Order: sequence, then C-alpha cells, then structure tokens
Amino acid sequence: MSDEDHKTDCSVVISEVYLYLDLECSDERRQLIQHHLDDCSDCLREYGIEHEVKALVARCCGDERAPQELRERLRMKLSEHVVEVESHEYLP
Ligand SMILES: [Zn+2]
Repeated sequence: MSDEDHKTDCSVVISEVYLYLDLECSDERRQLIQHHLDDCSDCLREYGIEHEVKALVARCCGDERAPQELRERLRMKLSEHVVEVESHEYLP
C-alpha cells in the first residue's frame, strides 16, 4: 500500500549521493538518502562505490567535507552510471 513511501528508487539515491556527501541537499533529503543506504547497500555495491561512500559518510559525521578530488571522481562515476541506466531504458 505504501510501497512508494517505503522504497526510494536506488537510482534516485545514487544520483543524489554526491549532494548528500557535499551537504548540498536538504536535511529531509539527507535523511531519506541515509535511510535508504542503511537499508540497501546493494545499490552502492552495484555501482562499485560502497567502500568510498561508506568512508565518506563516516567522515561526514565530523566537520570535514569529502575531498574535492574524491567528490569529482564520485560525481563522474555516478553520472556515467546514470547515463548508462537512462540510455538502457531507451533500448528496444
Ligand atoms: Zn538502493
């Protein structure tokens, strides 16, 4: 009944992970993403960023932000995957 509330789409979460790491999204979104990642590490693993994201999330508990270089790499990785996922849907 509440399926839509229950599960945030993995691709949505993944595409917002770098915003989350950058503290650029709202508290509400952060909670949503955090909750999803707690619940579903499969999506991180699938994108091959589980280790990086977990390390960054642990760091973000302090005041420190993710290092620029790592953020950029993550962003590139994510956009590649998002493009892949999107274009895949257009295939017959
Ligand atoms: Zn997921």
